[in-house]
Amino acid sequence: MAVRRAASGYARALALGLVPLALFACARRQAVTDGFRGGGDTGELTRLHERYRVAAIGTREFTHQELWDALGPLVDAAGGPERGEAGRSAEGRPVYRVRYGAGPTRVLLWSQMHGNESTATMALADLFRFLAEAPDDARARRLAERLTIEAVPMLNPDGAERFQRRNAMGIDVNRDARALATPEGRILRALHQRFRPHFGFNLHDQDVRARVGASDRLAAVALLAPPFGPSRQDNAVRTRAKRVAAVVRMAAEPLVAGHIARYDDTFNPRAFGDLMQSWGTSTVLIESGGWRNDPEKQYLRRVNFVALLTALDAIATGAYAGADPARYAELPENGRPVNDLLVRGSTVVVPGLEPYRADVTVNFADPLARRGGRIVEVGDLAEAAARDTIDATGLFLHPGPEALAQDARGRPALMVDRPASFVLRRGRDAASEVVWRMEADRKTPLPVH
Ligand SMILES: [Zn+2]
Repeated sequence: MAVRRAASGYARALALGLVPLALFACARRQAVTDGFRGGGDTGELTRLHERYRVAAIGTREFTHQELWDALGPLVDAAGGPERGEAGRSAEGRPVYRVRYGAGPTRVLLWSQMHGNESTATMALADLFRFLAEAPDDARARRLAERLTIEAVPMLNPDGAERFQRRNAMGIDVNRDARALATPEGRILRALHQRFRPHFGFNLHDQDVRARVGASDRLAAVALLAPPFGPSRQDNAVRTRAKRVAAVVRMAAEPLVAGHIARYDDTFNPRAFGDLMQSWGTSTVLIESGGWRNDPEKQYLRRVNFVALLTALDAIATGAYAGADPARYAELPENGRPVNDLLVRGSTVVVPGLEPYRADVTVNFADPLARRGGRIVEVGDLAEAAARDTIDATGLFLHPGPEALAQDARGRPALMVDRPASFVLRRGRDAASEVVWRMEADRKTPLPVH
């Protein structure tokens, strides 16, 4: 905050759009000298998001129909953002694009090419609601005058219908940039060829268990300015992308401080982000990850809204050119994933064995809903990190029948990779008071701790 307050009056005027265009080149030099100091007032952008959030989309799982029922009326009204059909998915669903602005700098955004990665789609819906309903806002005016934005808020509607990563053909659309076997991949490629964007935003969700570097902090956001080739060198296109990534980091930082990582930058010749970079579009990958107590990713939706609006505005004003690429490059990489749940300090009660002191880790098939739990490890897990930890010191862990495997002689044992079904009780007696119950295939609320 102090840094932003320290910004010069000139930079504030620039941010407010008060600098006449004739001074624009001068302003750009100023920005380069001063460096990009932040995206503006996070509190103000947060309030903007509260106001324009599309309430009809309230959870991370929604269909193509539900999205466009909510967003369609906003982008079909006269003036403001405009909807068009970019093509049809493998199952024939219309893949819509939304265009906004008529400025010289072209920006392409696409989200949910993986059908179960919807955080940025929600944020794009909110962004277009803002642009549709607040055309006189200074930011909205700047974007309209200086940018032409094309966005595909749900590139893989068939995958979204099933809430799965792949499209209806079973193909990962983000590994189809070279082969172009999928209609969705061809839609994105054709849009790129027709539109020739200067900037691209490739919007995804990553493993909610990823952490920042070697820390125990969850990666709420991971950023990548993808390489344009195997050498991972920089050129002007990638350096511009790194500056935009630095802007995204600085915009997100006040909301998720210490929880931003850098995505692995190994070149992938089948991935769209990498190929867009090689096709001359300065592309940034934004991955929404995990955040505490955010099972529907509504907080990260807000972070996306704030970051995207800030980045678009910085591209519109040219202020992004003053952002230091080091602010991106210095981010720690995504680290080893943590477990979903750690039960620490329990005493395990298995029939036929003396009760024994052991920690237990659990991972879920659906980590956000805490459904489909499996036991990962049993024993001394003092160094283990988890998204959630239950202190079970003084409590007794009684495994359910599914959690126990029979050995060769028919004796039960608590085994890794079995369904995580157990009860924490006050005593070793199977009839003692229940403190908490975990059922593998039921959504399990955490105990208050
Ligand atoms: Zn993805």
